[in-house]
Amino acid sequence: MSTPAPKLPADVVISGRVWELEVRDGLNLDEERAGLTQFSRGRIVLDTDAAQPRTMLHELMHAAEETLESDIPHDTIAALAAGLADALISRPVLAEWIAARARGDV
Ligand SMILES: [Zn+2]
Repeated sequence: MSTPAPKLPADVVISGRVWELEVRDGLNLDEERAGLTQFSRGRIVLDTDAAQPRTMLHELMHAAEETLESDIPHDTIAALAAGLADALISRPVLAEWIAARARGDV
């Protein structure tokens, strides 16, 4: 019996602010983009076909940047998102360990 594919959570919380997450068809973004962060709405939207794992991390970093009122160069966000995506793809259990550690379970 195989494990069911994980579902995208409806939202995440970054430093107390809730950000809705959505993946949907036909976003019609320009070629350079596969997702966007809507700061005023507190929402991250990714295009179903174009979005890669690094896109989600990239947009989460934009949300964190906004929430924390920092100013990170876009190239830095892109590089960090790519590196974190590689790390999580190589060892998916890492995300579970991070959450368990935060709860004090491990
Ligand atoms: Zn960006």
